[in-house]
Amino acid sequence: MQHTTGGRPVADRFQALGPNRLDEIATKYGLRSRLRESVRLFSLVLPFRVNEYVLNELIDWSEPHSDPIFHLFFPQPGMLSPADEQLLTTARDGGDPGELARAIASIRAGLNPHPEHQQDLNVPQDASGPVPGTQHKYDQTLLYFPAAGQTCHAYCTYCFRWAQFVGEPELRFAAPEPSRAVEYLRRHPEITDVLVTGGDPMVMTAERLRQHLEPFLAVESLQTVRIGTKSVASWPHRYVTDHDADATLRLFEQIAEAGKTPALMAHLSHPVELEPAIARTALARIRDTGAVVYCQAPVIGRVNDDAAAWARLWRAEQRAGAVPYYMFVARDTGPRDYFKIPLARAAAIFRDAYSTLPGLARTVRGPVMSTTNGKIVVDGVTEEAGAGRYFELRYLQARDPRLVGRPFRAVYSADAAWIDDLELVPGTPADIRAAASAGED
Ligand SMILES: *Cc1c(COP(=O)(O)O)cnc(C)c1O
Ligand code: SF4
Repeated sequence: MQHTTGGRPVADRFQALGPNRLDEIATKYGLRSRLRESVRLFSLVLPFRVNEYVLNELIDWSEPHSDPIFHLFFPQPGMLSPADEQLLTTARDGGDPGELARAIASIRAGLNPHPEHQQDLNVPQDASGPVPGTQHKYDQTLLYFPAAGQTCHAYCTYCFRWAQFVGEPELRFAAPEPSRAVEYLRRHPEITDVLVTGGDPMVMTAERLRQHLEPFLAVESLQTVRIGTKSVASWPHRYVTDHDADATLRLFEQIAEAGKTPALMAHLSHPVELEPAIARTALARIRDTGAVVYCQAPVIGRVNDDAAAWARLWRAEQRAGAVPYYMFVARDTGPRDYFKIPLARAAAIFRDAYSTLPGLARTVRGPVMSTTNGKIVVDGVTEEAGAGRYFELRYLQARDPRLVGRPFRAVYSADAAWIDDLELVPGTPADIRAAASAGED
């Protein structure tokens, strides 16, 4: 079956297109050979996956080089350092598979594949050891990683989980089924939210998703079942034309009928993602189930480092009945230097976009760094006559709740891009200083 989404016809059935389909993609969409060869080279190191919907409906092929969605999904020249690129080219052209594999492994190791290195710190324990597929960092929220939800409909080039898509064993904690997580919730009634995440849990069939979610519905203290997903942008058919789209929506209804709030945490990076009619239909159908949709994304160079784009995105979200929620700062992983935005610039983009919004869309917060000890928002830059400029910072969420909501300051820097690039002012309380110095999530 075919349908149209306002543009060319799109095949209804989801099919992942990876590096082995690159020639076909290049021919069909007119990708120039130089760009094609760099995508081929970099996809030896970084994950590459797209699908027909992304290619047909979201990317403007007249100028892929300056297209935000092309940058979102296609590895680009410049994402590796010149030295790494040289190493990779030499190894590939040398024709020795062993040498190529070693070059790939060494380049990946240099790209900070596990930015959540304190992951173990957040893994809760029960009597038989770590509870599989869970992290418990903030009192109210348990993260749950279902084993079958650890891929995505398309891979974002800036993804901090990129290592797992190229076969690194970060999946060791993913949960085959939820019984131990459910037991953990029963022993921790302070947890009101389960945040189901991946990869992208919405790659699972409705039936598989139901097997993971249904057991949670019997936990009385649980109030909200959140699902983190990029699917509204990268495969909205999931809620409209997929063979189990209706069954998926029925599952959301079932969550609501059990007295819990189903919440979709939609990863939306650019207003183009909400232009196709099918994406807006997907949001309407999701909302019809009683689910609430919250929207979040990182601010990324060449993708959305543009206040006008954020303002349009947040308005489009609000118009679709969704709630603008977080603008994140990109984490230090993968091709970070290619994408990174200084905090000063991120704060200016946020303010410029936010100041144009109607009050009801000012639910959004940012720019936010998700760090080892909590989520830190950059509230803005203050200037004191004779005393200089400062970043005004605040924990929105913290491992230690006592840190939350107390403003603190760092010396202004035009280039700082993460909390550990910042110097906190003298007189910063010791607990905040200690928490902030731990840096990366
Ligand atoms: C961001 C995050 C959450 C959710 O935080 P909210 O502010 O409630 O959206 C939960 N757990 C971890 C580990 C997180 O990074
Ligand atoms: S959808 Fe999320 S998990 Fe998947 S590649 Fe993009 S950022 Fe990573």
